[in-house]
Amino acid sequence: MTIPFNKPPYTGNEDQYVVAAMRSGKMSGDGEFTIRCQQWFEKELNCKKALLTPSCTQALEMAALLIDIQPGDEVIMPSYTFVSTANAFVLRGAKIVFVDIRKDTMNIDETLIEAAITERTKAIVPVHYAGIACEMDEIMAIAERHGLFVIEDAAQGMMSTYKGKALGTIGHMAAYSFHETKNYTSGGEGGLLLINDEQFIVRAEIIREKGTNRSLFFRGMIDKYTWVDVGSSYLPGELQAAYLYGQLEKAQEINQARRDIWDYYYSALQQLFKTGHIELPIVPADCVGNGHMFYIKVENIEVRSRVLSVLRDLSIGAVFHYIPLHSAPAGLRLGRFHGNDVHTTVESERLIRLPIWYGMSEGEMEQVINAVVGAVNASCQ
Ligand SMILES: *Cc1c(COP(=O)(O)O)cnc(C)c1O
Repeated sequence: MTIPFNKPPYTGNEDQYVVAAMRSGKMSGDGEFTIRCQQWFEKELNCKKALLTPSCTQALEMAALLIDIQPGDEVIMPSYTFVSTANAFVLRGAKIVFVDIRKDTMNIDETLIEAAITERTKAIVPVHYAGIACEMDEIMAIAERHGLFVIEDAAQGMMSTYKGKALGTIGHMAAYSFHETKNYTSGGEGGLLLINDEQFIVRAEIIREKGTNRSLFFRGMIDKYTWVDVGSSYLPGELQAAYLYGQLEKAQEINQARRDIWDYYYSALQQLFKTGHIELPIVPADCVGNGHMFYIKVENIEVRSRVLSVLRDLSIGAVFHYIPLHSAPAGLRLGRFHGNDVHTTVESERLIRLPIWYGMSEGEMEQVINAVVGAVNASCQ
């Protein structure tokens, strides 16, 4: 690929911190860089507790443990998402209840959630697709009316806001991803559990430390640590945290660079939009994005296949995205779709993601746009 779909973010600051972590004499979890990162999130985002994890998947698994999901509980989420959103709860025995998405944002349709609630429902998991917020005020109000937990899958949402609040700081808990395809990476894989409801903090630290009260011990609050609860190993090593720290220092710069690419694509594709050949992403008035993703929508899956094939020949890394979970083999077994699939499948089949990464040059953006304009025009004859 001349222009790959993604390049892992790298600012140049990471090296010194990774080397420092290597030489620090302590590379296991919860060292100096982990603490620095966690403090950065707590301060910058204004959340009660931030805990680094080895992946977003594991942060979601921790959330499922913390809200005590039991076999037979139901969890409501969109079908248009990554498998981990569902798996984290399925691992605890939950049944997944999928509801349709909104055509404009590809996010869960908040107006369909209430009808999907039963006496077994335990949680709602909104996914902020492409870093654009779900309608969180409405979702939180529904959760409150029915006594449900809200776990935000904010894997793509770092640095985005909803009514001025950072994504991930609105639900009871939330998860970020630092996989190399996301806006910030902790060296390939990584994640964060954000806790906004204080009742979960103490137990989260225990579950993350293999079910022991080790973190209280390190803070000098108990004499010796012991096994007190279920748990697993949900701490990343210090090299991961050190890499991430280098990016946190440049968080604004990375965010701005991605938003600039997004803005460039958005204006450069206006002409194609006006011909009616493509649709452009819609950002609701209350939402500010982070340039995580730029997608276009073409007429249908046949047009999409033609466009993608032309772009592949031009060595442009454009790709489609999720196959809806409810139609996947595991989704058929482990979940059900409540209501009608009006938009999930149809909209997912029209969507094409364009290359977007930190460090992309204006020449590369121009090359992408020229290729897309040519490919769409050639495919819509
Ligand atoms: C990337 C992603 C995940 C998984 O993140 P990992 O860090 O790879 O575990 C989960 N949910 C969504 C919506 C994602 O985009």
